[in-house]
Amino acid sequence: TTTTLHGYAPICLGLEDFYIRRLYLRIQDCFGRPISSAPDAWFDVVERYSNDNNKTLKRTTKISRCLNLGSYNYLGFAAADEYCTPRVVETLEKYSPSTCSSRVDGGTTLLHNELEECVANFVQKPAAIVFGMGYVTNSAILPVLMGKGSLIISDSLNHNSIVNGARGSGATIRVFQHNTPPHLEEVLREQIAEGQPRTHRPWKKIVVIVEGIYSMEGELCKLPEIIAVCKKYKAYTYLDEAHSIGAVGKTGRGVCELLGVDTADVDIMMGTFTKSFGSCGGYIAGSKELIKYLKYTCPAHLYATSISPPAAQQIISSIQVILGEDGSNRGAQKLSQIRENSNFFRSELQKMGFEVLGDNDSPVMPIMLYNPAKIPAFSRECLKQNVAVVTVAFPATPLLLARARICISASHSREDLIKALKVISSVGDLVGIKYFPAEPQKQ
Ligand code: PMP
Repeated sequence: TTTTLHGYAPICLGLEDFYIRRLYLRIQDCFGRPISSAPDAWFDVVERYSNDNNKTLKRTTKISRCLNLGSYNYLGFAAADEYCTPRVVETLEKYSPSTCSSRVDGGTTLLHNELEECVANFVQKPAAIVFGMGYVTNSAILPVLMGKGSLIISDSLNHNSIVNGARGSGATIRVFQHNTPPHLEEVLREQIAEGQPRTHRPWKKIVVIVEGIYSMEGELCKLPEIIAVCKKYKAYTYLDEAHSIGAVGKTGRGVCELLGVDTADVDIMMGTFTKSFGSCGGYIAGSKELIKYLKYTCPAHLYATSISPPAAQQIISSIQVILGEDGSNRGAQKLSQIRENSNFFRSELQKMGFEVLGDNDSPVMPIMLYNPAKIPAFSRECLKQNVAVVTVAFPATPLLLARARICISASHSREDLIKALKVISSVGDLVGIKYFPAEPQKQ
């Protein structure tokens, strides 16, 4: 396992480049007979994540070294890190990969308590609870917090884990137009009168759920305006920071820090460790009472195996680096690098004539393809030139709003980005997805 940790990313995936092996499948019918008329299928699997210039892998025609523009490895921690990896390995030796127990049945180590304290401090809330999976954090928490007689008002583009959690809660669900505070207000006004005390209205609780950075749009949440509406109607706010925590803000503390929002104004802060921290799992942070309540009642805390200790250590160590507690300024450098990389890449794509969604500072940048039929050609041609991009289409996006979703990392070098821009530009010409005139090049 230790070798794997060094060879692959610590616990989860990512890094600025990686290797892809193409697997060929013989398509067979249910009795194992080849279906002769069908071509053999293939799919690509990630062979190895590495930053070591391919010292250990023999190059064959089936393995290509790719620049990875698809992973959520925003700060580059999902690769062997000089500070994090030795501590993760030490934890692995000390605690093993799994506690094999739920939090309440012996699955809470000192590390789990330290992690919860560390996360609460990082996101600037009084307390936090952690879970082994980000998806489960949303889908298991919402049914504990909300139920019949409660109202969830959800952004129309919220992640599937939120949608599933909301549906599973049994609460009434209303959806407001994506990132549109005036429409949120309209939806709230249909349900309650402005200023009505919580005790005098038809809903036990009202929660408004938004994301910090929308993963398919690359947009920053209009959080200050959303909070103003929530305060006016005394609704609770639930903020999913999966893509913003660690990635934006002067000290990496997410959209609240970036947009100047007091964290006291967000009632429930949720996030995942699978992006900026290069690990796995998720958290909920809030008041001490809220977290205590969740620890007593949430089935995913009571009945699921606790987060893996090496994964927990990876989160603690990466937060220490972000905050400069490792004694270096690598954290600050990573934060300014991701901002610089993101803004450079976004503006260059726009100059080339692509339609790019999202806001400045956001490392998520969807390039609009619109027609889903353009997806295979776009990703195949990029991959041919060793640039790996993620393309997304229905049902993750509306049917005719297919896109290539680029995720920028602090560990991309300027040369990486320039190479990627050249490839994307030529593929964009080939596939016909430059919808605006390109800016003239300066001589
Ligand atoms: N929330 C959002 C907004 C997400 O984008 C994701 C997944 N990318 C999740 C929750 C689930 O997180 P995880 O992949 O860590 O389970």
